[in-house]
Amino acid sequence: MVSRVIPVDPFDLVVFGGTGDLARRKILPALFRRFCAGQMEQGARIVGAARTEMDDAAYRFFVREAIGEFDAAHARDQENLAAFLNIVHYVTLDARGNTGWKALAGLISPNRVKAFYFSVGPSLFGDLAERLYEFGMADGQARIVVEKPFGRDLSSAKALNATLSKHFDESQIYRIDHYLGKETVQNLMAVRFGNMLFEPLWNSQYVDHIQITVAETVGVAGREEYYDRSGAMRDMLQNHLMQLLCLIAMEPPAKFEPDAVRDEKLKVIRALDPVEGHDIVRGQYGADEDKPSYLEHVGDPYSTTESFVAIKARISNWRWAGTPFYLRTGKRLKARTSEIAVVFKDAPHSIFGAEAGRHRNILTIVLQPNEGIELGVTIKEPGPGGMRLIDVPLDMSFAEALGPDAEHVPDAYERLIMDVIRGNQTLFMRCDEVEAAWAWTDPVIASWEKRGDRPLVYDSGSSGPVEALALMHRDGRRWREIRK
Ligand code: NAD
Repeated sequence: MVSRVIPVDPFDLVVFGGTGDLARRKILPALFRRFCAGQMEQGARIVGAARTEMDDAAYRFFVREAIGEFDAAHARDQENLAAFLNIVHYVTLDARGNTGWKALAGLISPNRVKAFYFSVGPSLFGDLAERLYEFGMADGQARIVVEKPFGRDLSSAKALNATLSKHFDESQIYRIDHYLGKETVQNLMAVRFGNMLFEPLWNSQYVDHIQITVAETVGVAGREEYYDRSGAMRDMLQNHLMQLLCLIAMEPPAKFEPDAVRDEKLKVIRALDPVEGHDIVRGQYGADEDKPSYLEHVGDPYSTTESFVAIKARISNWRWAGTPFYLRTGKRLKARTSEIAVVFKDAPHSIFGAEAGRHRNILTIVLQPNEGIELGVTIKEPGPGGMRLIDVPLDMSFAEALGPDAEHVPDAYERLIMDVIRGNQTLFMRCDEVEAAWAWTDPVIASWEKRGDRPLVYDSGSSGPVEALALMHRDGRRWREIRK
């Protein structure tokens, strides 16, 4: 199987914050891989823009180093790397002042797609939008890409939307959530809407519950300041987990088109019930033998920010009334894994008797580490000795199904950046979606702030606080093992 690459028309892509961590680790290597795949036509141009003083040659060296560090395999392709570096430029620029803006405007071609990636802190988004307008770059061919966090509550998200919309139409604003660019997440839509098999069962009549887990093994080191102002609810649940929930729960859109898909996601968010106090568990990781605790990391013994949150969410609509969605995410957990499990109900009657045990189908969508989809089905255990039932996975992991092509599954940033150039907003969040997500999140946060709850301490390397296990146990259910 050979993946088809459709080249995009020549474009200018400016990475504001082009010397930052995200640019180095994700954006620049992703662009290089798309270049190697033959997706960039002659004339495409990439411009790094940041405060650090340097010229093109120094930035090219920086880009070469970044690609070498974060994609050693592709970096070995010296011929492509040299050609790629030729299309890379740099402008020293201050988002808050006028330095560098004329030079940038001089570099950008007027009559083609120009994408401006805001890979800087959110406090600079407004300044960048304003200056792009002032210096004549906010024309109809311009697109801006905005990184998370998109606000820290409803009012700040609204203010940010208002700032950006002063100079850019909603169709020009790409709010990125890299989870949506993951191949498996798109596959989730293919599985749901491309097969007859699942959709008839995709409702509260057949689905017992849904679990979404995003577990990390790392702590907050390196991001202490940002994280302590944010916490797991704002940093992960309000955006990434919420987006996954939407894709699982939404009605089939009439077309796979940006507004059709986003309209359906929005309806899901608006149908979410408020979350009650007893349906929320927050935690903070404790110290390990050689690793500091959350409180030690952030250097504040009184911090009440959570590094773990689990929630039981309910969607009040015809499809999902009665089927809970359990969401959890946290740091310093047992393994780094992200998965969605759709747990179907038991068969209404077992013809095999009690000794056959309890079996149910589970559709698992694994986002990391090994992207793939697995369907657990019940079969007879082979051999004599009666009808003993076992659950086996029908494995649809990409590595198995696609063979060597699986190695070329583009990473989320590759897919999403090319979507920006193509002008396809399907996998980006619309302003009303973001605002609706905050409108649901704000009262949840306000409720624990009002109660003055402290997060519960959990062991590093565990599955989170035991109270999070109880969140499901009391409903007669259990979390799936956080597995590597
Ligand atoms: P960073 O601090 O490593 O880099 C910031 C960049 O902005 C640098 O290039 C710096 O020179 C530039 N900059 C700062 N002030 C400037 C100014 N006044 N004018 C021009 N340039 C200026 O940050 P980062 O980790 O790369 O994150 C960038 C954005 O992406 C943030 O909004 C962050 O929340 C978001 N984000 C980062 C990650 C990640 O993995 N690093 C993941 C998701 C989202």
